[in-house]
Amino acid sequence: MAEAKPQTEPAPAEPAVSQFASQLQQRETPEEATSDQPHIQAEGFSVYYGDTAAVREVTMAVPRGQITAIIGPSGCGKSTFLNAVNRMTDLIPSCSVAGDLRFDGERVYEADVVHLRRRIGMVFQKPNPFPKSVYENVAYGPKLHGRRRRAELDRIVERSLSEAGLWDEVRDRLRASATSLSGGQQQRLCIARALAVDPEVILLDEPTSALDPRATARIEDLMTELRGRYTILIVTHNMQQAARVSDYTAFLYEGELVEFGDTVSLFTNPRKKQTEDYITGRFG
Ligand code: ADP
Repeated sequence: MAEAKPQTEPAPAEPAVSQFASQLQQRETPEEATSDQPHIQAEGFSVYYGDTAAVREVTMAVPRGQITAIIGPSGCGKSTFLNAVNRMTDLIPSCSVAGDLRFDGERVYEADVVHLRRRIGMVFQKPNPFPKSVYENVAYGPKLHGRRRRAELDRIVERSLSEAGLWDEVRDRLRASATSLSGGQQQRLCIARALAVDPEVILLDEPTSALDPRATARIEDLMTELRGRYTILIVTHNMQQAARVSDYTAFLYEGELVEFGDTVSLFTNPRKKQTEDYITGRFG
């Protein structure tokens, strides 16, 4: 008589990324990227330092008005990709690109670079205000682009600082040196400086990695407030942050795009094993 096999309960399906549950709880899957043309589109796009490709044949469409996070282990090409979008790569002599990268349908590497950088602002890891007053930091860009009238500059400074959630804290200190502000305030000032020239896209390269948790939360809230008005592309090594703030996530590994998708799906149901291994902390 065949021995009855002990009944083994099938192991409950392990949620791939249960540690992101709280970040994702409040999130909605963004509406399917509409027929709108992507704001930024890479097709077979590569970036080289000398002969070495740091970004390899990446094909990705960044939707307009949404927050897209780029995640991946250190050295996988996140910053390089970001720097290519507003041609900061031009500043590195050994750097060259191949393939297609478009902003609003126009080829980035054939565009007028001054115009491009006005439309695509950037904020870096370490707050880097100019050693000038709060006011001058924000007015600098508009002045460079020909705005001279005092009343107009005043309006731009107030609007930009308000949008960056800093106006109430600095309205009485506009003439104070920017370097007298706290780190978190300096980073919001850098965001205000980027907003002052009416960009369409804001590139954020690890914008909170030099900040404490409170200042980080403030910047994350700000990103959510700016969503919709601007297309935001953020590089972060902090996966919790990507899960909290972004609508879409791109996972890069060794220069290649492994997976791109809406953030909730990518973190709860990654399509690629490499993505799952990375977000569950198995490597990286
Ligand atoms: P991540 O932002 O993901 O940490 P990076 O884009 O900074 O990655 O770097 C991708 C690769 O390109 C790394 O191997 C890095 O060493 C290399 N790299 C980055 N900047 C330069 C540079 N200016 N010159 C040469 N190699 C660079």
